[in-house]
Amino acid sequence: MVYLKTTDTCQLNCDHCFTNGSNGKKGFFDTHAVIDFFQRLKAFNPHFENGNISFHGGEPFLCPTEQIFTVWEGVKDLWPNIWWSIQTNLTFKLTDEKIRVLEEICDKSWGTSWDYGIRWTNPKQEKLWRDNVRFLADKGHDITVMVSLTDNLVKSVSPIEIINDMASLGIKSINFERVTPDGNALDNLDNGVIPRNHVLDHWFLKMWEETKEHKCWEYIDNLFLNSILTSLVHNTYAGCRSRTCEQKILTLNADGTVGGCPNSAPTRTFGTIHDDIPSLLFSEGRMCNINDECTRNQICETCDVYDVCNGDCHQLQWQGDLCASPKSLMRELKNGIKSQDSYYKEVLSGFMGQE
Ligand code: SF4
Ligand code: SF4
Repeated sequence: MVYLKTTDTCQLNCDHCFTNGSNGKKGFFDTHAVIDFFQRLKAFNPHFENGNISFHGGEPFLCPTEQIFTVWEGVKDLWPNIWWSIQTNLTFKLTDEKIRVLEEICDKSWGTSWDYGIRWTNPKQEKLWRDNVRFLADKGHDITVMVSLTDNLVKSVSPIEIINDMASLGIKSINFERVTPDGNALDNLDNGVIPRNHVLDHWFLKMWEETKEHKCWEYIDNLFLNSILTSLVHNTYAGCRSRTCEQKILTLNADGTVGGCPNSAPTRTFGTIHDDIPSLLFSEGRMCNINDECTRNQICETCDVYDVCNGDCHQLQWQGDLCASPKSLMRELKNGIKSQDSYYKEVLSGFMGQE
């Protein structure tokens, strides 16, 4: 998986943004250097078959679409099976060229994000986002929305309110992201950005109760919930809980530096796209990141849901002895696995753990 940042900055400035919002470095990616990097990566390991390249930012659409097309044209034939996508805040006027990126490059399957109370500075901006989402969903786009679990959100909004609101816009999949102490979030730790872990734990349990009550899986995929259920039903660890992100993800910052996990990629870089590939992949910095991710908190070793959780994402902040995982939810699901295996499979609706 490669996060390909077309820019490190954004037209918005969310308090929880791990890439520094509008204070991120200005400028766009160097298209020729990026293409050259991918050509050398292909030569180094010709056996990659599948994967995902996702345009990222900041806001990736701040970059002229010609540059996005140039990179895609220059790279797509190296890996014909690779899935291309984009993660955009979608808070801008749609143009034919931007829609072409979503349709031709992303094959109408891509991601956007929604946040409670900290993203848009006025109702007009949120209306623009909602109108864009509705318009593209009506055109058959398969949209995944990422919702950040800030303190204000978990204290003020029920899971079902968000799930139903997003479904009403025509969104097909929803995912929930916990905030890590990076970028703007670091400056806003006391500002309602990162919730208390016990409150978050309770919110996740409520999400499961409301999902069952409303049979949400019949109208929207909840990727966060699905990733936990797949651990129980299929013994896999999807997404961050695999604890292999630093091994399988490269984030190419727009300034040419390279990191692993996108949340810490602006600060924990280990080389640049100009480096030769073996030096980059076996660099000391990358090895340190991998080592950090492999090392779990000792408390996990005696945890009753370790087999489901795997120690969770290594970027999440512990609060004393309390992790940021949905521990109560995992416990409840684990207790029910024998009697409710077929029910869990029904909720999964065929989802196998590939996010
Ligand atoms: S979270 Fe997304 S939309 Fe908000 S400032 Fe960061 S990059 Fe922009
Ligand atoms: S629930 Fe918490 S303590 Fe248990 S394995 Fe996961 S991160 Fe570790």
